[in-house]
Amino acid sequence: MSLIKCIDDYGIHSSNKMAHISEDNSITYGDLKKYSDALANYLLKNYGNENTPILVYGHKENEMLYSFIGIVKSGHSYVPIDSSLPVERVRDIIEVSQPHIIISIEEMPFELENIKIINYNTLIEIFKTSEVESISEEYYVKKEDVYYSIFTSGSTGRPKGVQITLGCLESFVKWGLSLCNDKEKVFMNQAPFSFDLSVMDTYLSLASGSTLYSINKKMISNMKELFKSFETSNITTWVSTPSFADMCLSDSNFNEKLLDKLDTMLFCGETLTNSTVSKIRQAFPKVKIYNTYGPTESTVAITSIEVTDKINEDFAPLPVGYSKENTWLYIMDENKNILPEGEKGEIIIVGDSVSIGYMNNEEINKKSFGTMEINGKTYRMYKTGDKGYMKDNLLFYCGRLDFQVKLNGYRIELEDIENNIKNIDFIDNTIVLPHEKEGKIQYLIGVVTLTKRVEEKDFKIVSNIKNKLKEYIPEYMIPRKFVIKETLPMTPNGKVNRRALMEEMK
Ligand code: AMP
Repeated sequence: MSLIKCIDDYGIHSSNKMAHISEDNSITYGDLKKYSDALANYLLKNYGNENTPILVYGHKENEMLYSFIGIVKSGHSYVPIDSSLPVERVRDIIEVSQPHIIISIEEMPFELENIKIINYNTLIEIFKTSEVESISEEYYVKKEDVYYSIFTSGSTGRPKGVQITLGCLESFVKWGLSLCNDKEKVFMNQAPFSFDLSVMDTYLSLASGSTLYSINKKMISNMKELFKSFETSNITTWVSTPSFADMCLSDSNFNEKLLDKLDTMLFCGETLTNSTVSKIRQAFPKVKIYNTYGPTESTVAITSIEVTDKINEDFAPLPVGYSKENTWLYIMDENKNILPEGEKGEIIIVGDSVSIGYMNNEEINKKSFGTMEINGKTYRMYKTGDKGYMKDNLLFYCGRLDFQVKLNGYRIELEDIENNIKNIDFIDNTIVLPHEKEGKIQYLIGVVTLTKRVEEKDFKIVSNIKNKLKEYIPEYMIPRKFVIKETLPMTPNGKVNRRALMEEMK
């Protein structure tokens, strides 16, 4: 049965079951079916059944879920955009994805021509007035169609839209559910829907008829409020980056008394350290902890390992896990030779959850994606840019081969920031460096040279840079610290010497 049909069936057979809770608003599977059918009917009637992208702009509202499911029932794909993104980033995404329709659950930050905007009030009208007959499966997104596209930081300064098919998502969900138990589940949704980590909680929840419990940015910025909401949440299954767990663990009230139903914690997106695992063990002695690994391009995660006390004692750093079924991992050198076990090289992912490529970006697709034949069948392949090695079928992650970093769980291309800084009129050149402590990036430093001094005082120039950047890149990408220099050190072949700068900034 297709994933969409499975979710739809909960709307018939468990219609009163809670599907999504977001602050004081909750919806049942019955609501999800009714309103997604209404939206799909409207879209089919007015915009046909083409597998083209529809942008959905908002945060953690219930209407986000109605929209996602309504869109895929009408055969279109969706592009989730979190309303915290800066205006220029949203413009970039629109330019790359070329949508005909945007569903704006929150008000769009600018006017648009030639794109149909379905705003919140129109959406509510559609829910009220559109026919609510069930949508025939023949209109649903098909296995090889794009189901969603998620935008990630791109080294050119423009985000890249990773296209995920229904087949990719189904492959992920089937495997992901094997990490969870069969009991009644409430999944915590922490990541915004525009990050692929949210696909883990959202679809493992919807595919198992469970409840998705969203925490929003307001709660995350106020620990007291967050913990208060945890008290009554009944969360059983935690999904987050290790950074978010670290933030919670810094408060001694974060323990099994606060989340007394919690039995599983799924981590992905960045290094899970031994010390985080030890802290979790103390606060939640009974929970199962999983480390999972994967880029957005392979649909959330493709390896996993349960981090038992023994694993935590035996390995430092921790392994990222064994590959899921129908997924093969290879380690390659720069000449594309497959390396033997134990040798370090680039992690290559082959399998049925690998994306069909970036949206409208043939040049980078050629570099990053390909195919490989395994057991007589052709599978998609993705070159991750991650460094790692295999040992006894276990994958170990050893950092990046390029300038991509993870800061507080966010994937950032340093060149993306640099290209946006260079666009500021008084900037001559720049290099952005990560500041690390104990193997973890604490913050970013922007080193800049100027074409002219727009202000006398350095701190005023820095605040000028930060204010300008706010329009173009998300807040989490703006370097915390800036250093203004007369010149940047150069390598003999005329490139900025990052290594020398890194030493200098230590
Ligand atoms: P994203 O596409 O945002 O999920 O970021 C994917 C990147 O995050 C990967 O290519 C890795 O560099 C990193 N990553 C994901 N999972 C892990 C993990 N379990 N341990 C270390 N790094 C990870």
